[in-house]
Amino acid sequence: MGECELGEFRSAVRASLRPVSGGACGDTRAVWRALGQRALIGSLYHDDVRRKLRSERLGVLLEELDRQLPVGVVLSVCVQVATVIPLLATMARAGTLAADAAGAALRGEAIVALAVTDSAVSGSSLLDAQTRVRVAADAVVVDGGKDWITNARQCDYALSLCRHAESRHFTSFRWVLIPAAAPGVSVINVGDALFPGAGLGNVRFDRVALTPGHLVGLPGRALTAFSRQIGAERWAGALWARAVCRRVLASTREWLMHRPSNCGTLWDNAAIRERFARCLVELARLDALCAHRGATRDEDSPVADIVLKAAVGDAVDRILGECADLHGAESFRDGGEAILRAAAGMFGVAGGATGAMLAAIADHADAILLEGARGICDITATRSN
Ligand SMILES: Cc1cc2nc3c(=O)[nH]c(=O)nc-3n(C[C@H](O)[C@H](O)[C@H](O)COP(=O)(O)OP(=O)(O)OC[C@H]3O[C@@H](n4cnc5c(N)ncnc54)[C@H](O)[C@@H]3O)c2cc1C
Repeated sequence: MGECELGEFRSAVRASLRPVSGGACGDTRAVWRALGQRALIGSLYHDDVRRKLRSERLGVLLEELDRQLPVGVVLSVCVQVATVIPLLATMARAGTLAADAAGAALRGEAIVALAVTDSAVSGSSLLDAQTRVRVAADAVVVDGGKDWITNARQCDYALSLCRHAESRHFTSFRWVLIPAAAPGVSVINVGDALFPGAGLGNVRFDRVALTPGHLVGLPGRALTAFSRQIGAERWAGALWARAVCRRVLASTREWLMHRPSNCGTLWDNAAIRERFARCLVELARLDALCAHRGATRDEDSPVADIVLKAAVGDAVDRILGECADLHGAESFRDGGEAILRAAAGMFGVAGGATGAMLAAIADHADAILLEGARGICDITATRSN
């Protein structure tokens, strides 16, 4: 995409956000509606069927959202554009509820949560998820719970991963699109202090009675579809993390350059400059990883996405931790760097905990050592076929 077209996209995003940004919490629904009304959500994708993301536009959107809105609002948008809409779009047939929900989400008229992390088991152990759907003739009943779900308190639907067979196998799951207003659905508030605007909640499904029209995609395909799409969420997370780090480093440098100390400023102190320089090196590593993965995005490579995810969690923590420390007590002001650092800890948890990512990377140690960084994509492209 040309710089000019990308510039126009940025201007359109800014114009759409202008009336709805501001305020500590941000009005998430108003932001989502504003983006949808200008067709900016739909314009993030290369095509209408697979909803493959345009990386440059996604990067610009996340940069602009990060600049103007609280982390929670960005999270709400991020999970929908990177995961929910593509998942729904690839599975929905015309005239179905899923197609209607995907269309409404694209127009910014509906918010759809992604409910995968089960309340009964570790989120890194999806095969053990216990939320169940029972399908019999015309009756569909869902029981269980999903924890730490973004948009849970502000969604119209939750696209929920449900077990339909007992065996511990990736084919034992299917998607159910559960209306938030359905009897038996309840939500408990979580995470508001750090993530205002995200609508985070623990969702409970108590004998939620639905119809076959609420089933999305083929039975047994849900985990495969999710595994394919989670790479896009990890990619979006990397672009967002990079924007956060660059913004906070820039403001930290400004702060250091204007903070009087020893007849000069903190920026004049060699020890402080070195600490800041190490953060720039970390940012350069993140940039390089993003550039590498960006150039190979056409290749389906779960391991490359996992390596990126693990690197992002570590890089954000190192950079924002140092920026918070460099601000001293000031970092603890409302909305300060120490608070942002705590919230940004989610880059090492949401969408896959770093420990679980490292375990998967270690499983591929031989291949990664043999092939090197570039090889990660080639190896896993072959393996996943
Ligand atoms: C802000 C936020 C937003 C979220 N939004 C959503 C959402 O919209 N939808 C959704 O479905 N979920 C969401 N989640 C949940 C998130 O996906 C899970 O928290 C994540 O998958 C990790 O699961 P867990 O919290 O149960 O931790 P666990 O997986 O239980 O991990 C606990 C600890 O054990 C380590 N660990 C786990 N497994 C292994 C392993 N195999 N090897 C080594 N170490 C391991 C982890 O690294 C971690 O340190 C969100 C979470 C947060 C914090």
